[in-house]
Amino acid sequence: MAQVYHGRPVHGSGPGPAGTRQDGLRRACVGLTLVCVKASPQTQLRLLELADLDTELARLGHRRRGLPEVAELAGLEVKSGELRDALVVTETELGDLTREQSRAERDVEQVRTRIEKDRARLDAGQVSAARELASLQSEIENLHRRQGDLEEVVLELMERQEGLESRRDELAADRDRLGSEIADVTSRRDAVFAEIDEQAAKASDQRSGVAADMPADLLALYDQIRKTKGNGAALLRAGRCEGCHLTIDAADLKAIRAAAPDDVVRCEECRRILVRTPESGL
Ligand SMILES: [Zn+2]
Repeated sequence: MAQVYHGRPVHGSGPGPAGTRQDGLRRACVGLTLVCVKASPQTQLRLLELADLDTELARLGHRRRGLPEVAELAGLEVKSGELRDALVVTETELGDLTREQSRAERDVEQVRTRIEKDRARLDAGQVSAARELASLQSEIENLHRRQGDLEEVVLELMERQEGLESRRDELAADRDRLGSEIADVTSRRDAVFAEIDEQAAKASDQRSGVAADMPADLLALYDQIRKTKGNGAALLRAGRCEGCHLTIDAADLKAIRAAAPDDVVRCEECRRILVRTPESGL
């Protein structure tokens, strides 16, 4: 049912469907939190400009959010985060390995010093007893074996370190490549953003201009509808609401036809303000 907002309560004109309809209209009018709104047909016509501008602003907002560059950047940022994490893990492993290697090198050094000391004793002829001599020689042999084992460990650690270093370098190179890719996509996105924002600023300015000419109560009603519908008014064209594209039923059309030109009427389906023009099919 179309609702007609009159500036005063509407009384039913008698029994039958027409009376019931007008009672319904009156109830809807009273139930509305805003006062019932009236506006000249010219002013109502300007609501369509407002609706067009709001549709344009919504389209631009949608375009801004839906840019392929926005999704692409989100994907690249995820990859970049993964790379950063992998780099931290590799750097940590490298740090641990470097410490382990220093320890192993110190051990080798200790064994080497010990060998030198033993050998010096041997060379100096400090040891003469056969048993002591044999024991010292055997110790030197053992120390040589131990040195060999430890050097083996150091070599293995160096190999692991080289592997980790080349992994770190690869990751760092990937990070740098990704960084410049992100910079490229960001500048592409920002260029489109700038273009969209310029159009939006223009539409927004125009909207402010139109809104400034609107009576406060009509604008408040329009804005309240806009919150859920994107825009708050639609043309009634050939008996059809251009907002929800539904045909107004005959009874509602009759009520709209009966409304005064400065009554603000609304679509029963989408609740938008219906703007009447000679194209409305009334
Ligand atoms: Zn509608």
